[in-house]
Amino acid sequence: MKHVPMNTVFVDITKDTPINIVKQRISSRGREDKDDALFVADLGDIVHKYKTWKAQLPHVAPFYGKSSLFKCNDDPVVLEVLAQLGTGFDCASKVEIQKILELKVKPERIVYANPCKQNSHIRYAAKKGITKMTFDNEIELHKIKLNHPKAELILRIAPPDDSKSQCQLGMKYGCNLKAVSRLLKVAKQLDLCVIGVSFHVGSGCFDRMAYVTAVALSRTVFDIGESHGYHFDLLDIGGGFPGQKSSKISFEEICDALCPALDEYFPKSMGVHMIAEPGRFFVASAFTLAVNIIAKRAVPRGEGYLGDKELTANDEPSFMYYVNDGVYGSFNCLLYDHAEVKPTLIDDYSSEPNFTSSIWGPTCDGLDCIVEKCFLPELVDGDWIVFRDMGAYTMCAASNFNGMPKPRCHYVIQDLPWHQLNAKKCGSGLLRVVSEMKSGHEILDDPEYHDVCPAIAVIDN
Ligand code: PLP
Repeated sequence: MKHVPMNTVFVDITKDTPINIVKQRISSRGREDKDDALFVADLGDIVHKYKTWKAQLPHVAPFYGKSSLFKCNDDPVVLEVLAQLGTGFDCASKVEIQKILELKVKPERIVYANPCKQNSHIRYAAKKGITKMTFDNEIELHKIKLNHPKAELILRIAPPDDSKSQCQLGMKYGCNLKAVSRLLKVAKQLDLCVIGVSFHVGSGCFDRMAYVTAVALSRTVFDIGESHGYHFDLLDIGGGFPGQKSSKISFEEICDALCPALDEYFPKSMGVHMIAEPGRFFVASAFTLAVNIIAKRAVPRGEGYLGDKELTANDEPSFMYYVNDGVYGSFNCLLYDHAEVKPTLIDDYSSEPNFTSSIWGPTCDGLDCIVEKCFLPELVDGDWIVFRDMGAYTMCAASNFNGMPKPRCHYVIQDLPWHQLNAKKCGSGLLRVVSEMKSGHEILDDPEYHDVCPAIAVIDN
């Protein structure tokens, strides 16, 4: 294994912002990839999130809700970090289950949390010893009876109101209260084991009362379960917890409402095991994306590209910037996740005048617009624009449409969270490899790992 510590840059991220890390990364790159868009992932941020979760919701075990893995963030280093921290995983398909099992995660730390599963995927889960799975309809119960009769089932209910969530899921998944009795009756007739209830208040939930009402509804369903001869002992409170620094509501604010509700409706004496499926919470703020301005157009203000007026000396200009990642790449979050993104500059332009500007992706498609209108100082080709909070629902659905490459990720972590990860004991995977190569805190720059792990910097405090 060749070890190339040449681009070694040590960044003290205790003082630096993600922007400074991006700056360091940009300046330390080779000539070939100098202007490629890039992600910087602060793995310490994920460790910090895990500690925050444990402090706020100590009695709720997080199962990293990548449902789907290919939806939220399936970065192999992120998965390794979370596996190492001890989270469980919620999976939506055979491939996701395979990926997580490869990390040596035990089957009991996996929930197959897709209420509408493919027969062969259910059989695969059965073969691999994964027992916990969700359902929300009668046909699914018959499928499970056929393919995995010993499964431990979790009834997914629809939240009463998910209208204040960034992405609503209630129109697709979850049964309503009226259907609960009928479904449990069928489950009983089929001699299936139902162990609990799950809900998802919608991804990116900004209403803490949505959790409270869903917890109350879950308790009602627990009681209905008793009347059908079931004694549920698992509550899965799903995901939806915001993970970005700029969130309208903080995780702590949600917990302030959620914890008393859990205590009220599920007192300790009930002995209910609680789990959750947080996705964006763990990853959103850990990733910062830097894009390069590859082209620029000046148009008269208010005219836009479609205006046929040439810019004259009397016009106030407006600038259209074309950058090398867009809505067919990492910014697919604008379409699928209804995300809002905010451009940030890496240099100090505070004394420069601002102009009306728009930011466009690199593909030849008019839809590929990242920011329709913002105010920026005049930038030039080759300048960088940075977007924070880009870890959730970004790179997973990114495509290479028009031959545009996906940005590579550079990983950073401080020494303290690194040690908290106890990386040397890691059974498998990249962190172990990096850990073994760590002497002297070099950046790993081994071609063998370039696809998944182009560079990890371990930083001294
Ligand atoms: N669990 C399930 C079943 C999901 O569908 C999703 C996302 O859609 C998640 C968990 C993760 O949700 P979030 O990222 O909002 O925490």
